[in-house]
Amino acid sequence: MLRAATREAISAAAEIVRSGGLVAFPTETVYGLGANALDAFAAAKIFEAKARPTFDPLIVHIADDAMLRLVVDEPIPPLARRAMQRFWPGPLTLVLPKNSRVPDLITAGLSTVAVRIPAHRVAHALVMHAGVPIAAPSANPFGALSPTCAEHVQATLGDRVACILDDGPTPFGIESTILAFLPEPTILRPGAIAREAIEEALGCNVAVVSIATSTPSVPGQLPQHYAPRIPLRIVDPASVAPEDRRRAGLLAFRDDVPGYGASRILSPSGNLPEAAAQLFAHLHDLESSDIDRIDAQEIPEVGLGVAIMDRLRRASIKS
Ligand code: AMP
Ligand code: MG
Repeated sequence: MLRAATREAISAAAEIVRSGGLVAFPTETVYGLGANALDAFAAAKIFEAKARPTFDPLIVHIADDAMLRLVVDEPIPPLARRAMQRFWPGPLTLVLPKNSRVPDLITAGLSTVAVRIPAHRVAHALVMHAGVPIAAPSANPFGALSPTCAEHVQATLGDRVACILDDGPTPFGIESTILAFLPEPTILRPGAIAREAIEEALGCNVAVVSIATSTPSVPGQLPQHYAPRIPLRIVDPASVAPEDRRRAGLLAFRDDVPGYGASRILSPSGNLPEAAAQLFAHLHDLESSDIDRIDAQEIPEVGLGVAIMDRLRRASIKS
């Protein structure tokens, strides 16, 4: 059920979370599918609704330092503390030592837990009202495009969830950056906070685990992910023969290319945050257009361009 995210709706959703149910809600990244992170039975409903494999751990959303102490154990690396001060509340997820209160299902049996304080008004109020940490992956079927508005959730998981809090499109439109300390700070998933900003805040280099180098020992880093229902390839659209454009859709960075059956521009001014915010909405539009394939143009791999290209590469891998 879609509900405008008023105070009443948020407290009703919080009550659902407290009683072990599932709710969908907006965050500053994408819409999340949430359940009480301290209740394994509630969390199991997330995996069931998304058809998500249980080896793929969930991110736990907290409201404050007291909740942090509930889900993580010392030692918290000093660099993690610095990252929290700089980026929380906000779209940076930190992988930290797990407290035994957190069910193994949430962390896929790992000794660490992924955690963040969301900056979105609705997400933060929901966690506060629920009074428990909320485990929430994106509110979409596993492997499919992430939802950046309530209608995306309604279309795919509408019958799976008691309540969808609607607060319009999400501001960042791309998932959080996931940072682990191995012990060197390492980005496990590029996302809404650029590596450059993290390096500046931490005062050191930050490594990135790319698709090519990621091993099965890092769970959830599945190469194929974020995929539309039709094939997607990364290609220079100018090099595509005009007769091959007609039945295809174009996802362009700045400029349209004539002859495509459908086209979406990520950012006419070449603004990478704007491009990231539009990415999934445009892919949702294209996958439901009358076309057979999506041609995605390459994006400059700096700043948020790294996260965008990560999503496009995973979307382009054939299952
Ligand atoms: P999401 O699907 O947006 O909820 O993101 C969850 C992703 O976070 C997983 O697919 C993993 O890649 C990552 N993750 C969660 N928990 C951990 C952890 N304890 N260690 C490493 N990566 C994690
Ligand atoms: Mg997801």
